[in-house]
Amino acid sequence: MDRSQGRTGGIVSGGNPAPATFTGNRALQIEEPLIFEMGQPGRCGVDLPEPPPTRNDRLNGLRRLGEIGLPGLSEPQVVQHYTRLSQKNYAIDMGVYPLGSCTMKHNPRINEKVARFAGIGDLHPLQPVSTVQGALELIDRLAHWLKTLTGMPAVAMSPAAGAHGEMCGMMAIAAALEAKGERAQRRTVLAPESAHGTNPATAAALGFTVKPIPANEAGRVDLGALKAALGPDVAAIMLTNPNTCGLFESEIVEISSAVHAAGAYFYCDGANFNAIVGRVRPGDLGVDCMHINLHKTFSTPHGGGGPGAGPVVLSAALAPYAPYPWIVKNGDSWTIAEDGARVDGQPLGRLKAFHGQMGMFTRALAYIMSHGADGLKQASEDAVLSANYVMAALKDVMTPAFDGPCMHEALFDDGFLKDTGVSTLDFAKAMIDEGYHPMTMYFPLVVHGAMLIEPTESQAKEDLDLFIGALRSLAERATSGKAAEDFKAAPRFAPRRRLDETLAARKPVLRWRPSNSFKQAAE
Ligand SMILES: *Cc1c(COP(=O)(O)O)cnc(C)c1O
Repeated sequence: MDRSQGRTGGIVSGGNPAPATFTGNRALQIEEPLIFEMGQPGRCGVDLPEPPPTRNDRLNGLRRLGEIGLPGLSEPQVVQHYTRLSQKNYAIDMGVYPLGSCTMKHNPRINEKVARFAGIGDLHPLQPVSTVQGALELIDRLAHWLKTLTGMPAVAMSPAAGAHGEMCGMMAIAAALEAKGERAQRRTVLAPESAHGTNPATAAALGFTVKPIPANEAGRVDLGALKAALGPDVAAIMLTNPNTCGLFESEIVEISSAVHAAGAYFYCDGANFNAIVGRVRPGDLGVDCMHINLHKTFSTPHGGGGPGAGPVVLSAALAPYAPYPWIVKNGDSWTIAEDGARVDGQPLGRLKAFHGQMGMFTRALAYIMSHGADGLKQASEDAVLSANYVMAALKDVMTPAFDGPCMHEALFDDGFLKDTGVSTLDFAKAMIDEGYHPMTMYFPLVVHGAMLIEPTESQAKEDLDLFIGALRSLAERATSGKAAEDFKAAPRFAPRRRLDETLAARKPVLRWRPSNSFKQAAE
């Protein structure tokens, strides 16, 4: 494949194709090679003294003899390269980022300021406990908020992401079943067909068999089908609420009663907690455990301060199995109960090195405290309001997947594109030309050609109106029946157009090699 394939072609303006440029750049769309392709042998950004000769080979003959193959560049070249690369990214700080399920909300700068305080940012996880009392108090205070907001008695803070929290919660359920002597018999985990892929993956990774539960016409769990699937073999249900269709599971209390009556546990996927914070406490709905994606609900989304953190709130029955480390308060001081330490329970082991994602704990606590209880409630109400605004403004030109109001996400199917020759993918690619990151596509799987829009509470109304205007104009063009070719050619204005994503997934080229690098990069 030619390296230039997929690159933006001549832009037609006033009938004349734009001329090719000498550099291949198009104004600020700069062609950026890999740093390895830019490097020159022998060039270096720093001036290091020759290492002294060592007398003995302390590596038992394994000392590297050849070049390591690092790219050789000067400091300004490195700075310019990475600055140009950073400008190719669409980011939460650039505009509307409607990626449903991911909660790409604004990351308040106060979070970043606090996370960089020297007393927090410069901590080392191996510092003596007597020197990190403030950090432990911070974790304990965040834990208090998470327990209060969810109405749950305990929380395991260490999981590093939502999926890791799922693993933690399901391991606690497995440990509780083991303690009751039911682990061997209860091998099935129920998951709605609309579930995020991590739910069945978590259950399968722990050796459970996953049984899908269909959705009803209203996009909620089919209660009859759920009841029919419950039995002495069921360990748990993994259910997201609000669910991945952006809808509140209105029969959730019946669901949790039925699950408990069958002797199983209710794992709630809390990735959508941002829609109900301050309004609903999952503990009141009969949830046994739930992970909270701090990086969704409490800001700092991917690319906005990340990484993630996935604390898991636990019921009294599951709390004893929370993994090490435990933060334990004794009077006015805190200790860390590490592996093997005596605690009031039977920890299931350890899931992560050290004590959790300290930077994310700090950001989440800064977010929570700067909003206050009333502000958190307002944020979730505004997230729901924004999604319903988008839904109401688009429902005459696009097809809502379900009737009625939504929670924090507006879900459309591809019904409005029927017979137009335009697919969900084409529609999303055309959004790139309008300057937007596309919404989540083809998820949840229960909706044909799904388009899941999560505007969050952090966009101004004018910006949402512009976004809505762009989608309305695309929908009208797509349904005019004359624009299929146009849509198939989108994006036109991006540095690259349609790449061969199938080939990239099937035959990924993950390693740059000095020879043939250009050819390989394109293969
Ligand atoms: C994001 C998400 C997850 C996984 O969380 P990560 O932090 O990305 O591991 C699980 N379930 C749902 C519904 C999600 O939206």
